[in-house]
Amino acid sequence: MNLLPVKILIIDFDTDFCESLRLSLLQQDQYEITIISTGKEAVEKAFNDLPDVVLLSTQLPDMDGYEILDLLKSAQTTHEIPVLLMSSESASTERIVQGLEMGAVDYVIRPIHNAEFCARVKVAIRNYRIQKSLREKAVTDTLTGLYNRSILEYRMQTELKRSQRHGIPISAVMLDIDFFKKINDSFGHLFGDQVLKTLGEILLRRARTDDIIVRYGGEEFLLLLFGADMQGAYAFAERVRIDFQSKIFYVNGQTVHFTLSAGVAQFSAVMSSSQFIDTADKALYVAKNSGRNRVCIDETADSGTIS
Ligand code: GH3
Ligand code: MG
Ligand code: MG
Repeated sequence: MNLLPVKILIIDFDTDFCESLRLSLLQQDQYEITIISTGKEAVEKAFNDLPDVVLLSTQLPDMDGYEILDLLKSAQTTHEIPVLLMSSESASTERIVQGLEMGAVDYVIRPIHNAEFCARVKVAIRNYRIQKSLREKAVTDTLTGLYNRSILEYRMQTELKRSQRHGIPISAVMLDIDFFKKINDSFGHLFGDQVLKTLGEILLRRARTDDIIVRYGGEEFLLLLFGADMQGAYAFAERVRIDFQSKIFYVNGQTVHFTLSAGVAQFSAVMSSSQFIDTADKALYVAKNSGRNRVCIDETADSGTIS
């Protein structure tokens, strides 16, 4: 259940039409409605606000509606947003087909009864929500509630580009629980699951909202830390290592605690995304081989060592 009101962006310069549509929509639900009459301003708003649905007029004073549709459909952040095209004159079949093929979810020709228009908007929102929830399920690990590996397909490239664009560092931490097989063997698989969940909670508590936390494999977790250089990511991983090591578990009438190892790498422009992950993985390997329960950084980076 989504508790936030649905955000509707209406892009049209016919103020009377927009106002009557706004009133009709508000009679149906608690929508958050924004009306914008020029293309340029509307595109900016759409990119910044990420509305849940866009009602877009094909004719605007400064831009063609199809051009705006194309911009929204080409960008990764906005391409899933349903866009409903509206035309105030009888559009040709070719134009309607073109709009739908470009990714619009519907094409409405005015005049149209407000009730029908609102019903079409509701259908677009309903379908979008279903898709969104399926997509969220597809990228969520059911045991920990964290992302699973497939999130990287959606987010990795965008995050790396974002970090380069803003000149902000981004680091990867690969974490792996030490001797996890033994934990399962000694205390059972269900207890092992409990340990995984606990580590997930520690990661969530320690990470920032911007960070991406992925259950990468069985007892392996990958974190992408936005804004963290090697030193920052190392400090982060150390805090997690200590939190986990200090966590006391109760099982079969005894108290036990466990450890983890981690590898840290900072992204540099010469790396591909898979090299980036691989570099963190190699550092993890070094941590494992040099005794476990420690954090190692990528020693091949020029950014210096941790004192
Ligand atoms: P190392 O210190 O070298 O990392 O040793 P390890 O025992 O942690 O590593 P290994 O890869 O040998 O074992 C990982 C174990 O994790 C094996 C697998 O059965 C277990 N595992 C994988 N997924 C799950 C899960 O969802 N739940 C539980 N309980 N165990 C899992
Ligand atoms: Mg392990
Ligand atoms: Mg492992």
